[in-house]
Amino acid sequence: MPDQPSTAPRISRLRALLRRSNVEAFLFLDLKNIRYLTGFTGSDGALLVGAGKPLLLVDGRYTTQAGREAPGARVVLYRDKASGIADALSAQGVERVGFEPAAATVEMLTGLRRKAKKVRWTPLQEKLGAIRAVKDPGEIRLIGRAARIAAGALRSTLERIRPGVCERDIAIELEYAMRSMGAEAPSFDTIIASGPNSALPHARPGSRKIRPGDFVVVDYGAVWRGYHSDETCTFAVGGAGRRHKKVYAVVKEAHDRALETLRPGVACRDVDAAARGVIEKAGYGSRFSHGTGHGVGLDVHEAPRLSTLSDAVLEQGMVITIEPGIYLPGFGGVRIEDMVLVEKDGARVLTEFSKELQVIG
Ligand code: ZN
Ligand code: ZN
Repeated sequence: MPDQPSTAPRISRLRALLRRSNVEAFLFLDLKNIRYLTGFTGSDGALLVGAGKPLLLVDGRYTTQAGREAPGARVVLYRDKASGIADALSAQGVERVGFEPAAATVEMLTGLRRKAKKVRWTPLQEKLGAIRAVKDPGEIRLIGRAARIAAGALRSTLERIRPGVCERDIAIELEYAMRSMGAEAPSFDTIIASGPNSALPHARPGSRKIRPGDFVVVDYGAVWRGYHSDETCTFAVGGAGRRHKKVYAVVKEAHDRALETLRPGVACRDVDAAARGVIEKAGYGSRFSHGTGHGVGLDVHEAPRLSTLSDAVLEQGMVITIEPGIYLPGFGGVRIEDMVLVEKDGARVLTEFSKELQVIG
């Protein structure tokens, strides 16, 4: 396909991993991984990468599409998926096979164990996640485009965030605007959380009407050619009191300090610590209840994670979010999220909205 990024370098990196992991082949069931490695965008299938040409296994609905989208793979038709995979494994004579535990159901794994008795299965989730974490220039362009579409949509919806309009209506209008500006879909169910609802990090937009004095958290993103954007803006409606300004300033400071740490070689845990340190020092440590960020790409949440538990290290080309927050039950919450590209000497923000406190409505 014309502007389809080349998948050959990705397969090469995978093969290097294959050698290091002491397996002869990888079986992929995760459709995003399959898309990443072949270009195939169908809703079902499996990919087997061993020594020879990768085998893309699909059912009858997808043979034509797979042939067109995945020129680097040999397309194999199956009737029953587990049997098709077992046949391919025995035809290739491979016995040590890596797989993604998060994508393999118990049913699939049981079927495979029964049908491919000689195969030893090795779970390799984290290593596979790392392959997708570093983006190539084509992917960075697609993610940037997704962010621009999303920002254009929020700009055109902003005047609807005012007293009397309910959260759900704003979410619907923002998603409509993203789609009408070219997005394939929203990156996830748009979060519009107002007043006390903004104290819930993953609030669902409901019938509550915006009131003066509310914080309104808008967490949203667009999908462009399979790639996601992710951004959160928190607005103050009708004015900002002292407490609003204080809480917002702490989160903004945490966000800025985390951004300043970004460069290749920095531990993701240290980026989290930079944001968390600011919030803890201000006395809100227990009110920042999630990690500081995550990778974004074909999935809206992917490797690396930026949290106290993360072992990952930043590399040039990673696209991640920085999204500290403070959530105060009964009062409201603030989250400030930018999506950034890790570059040679620092980082570049890909999301477009200003993160200074904006009073609207
Ligand atoms: Zn988000
Ligand atoms: Zn996010």
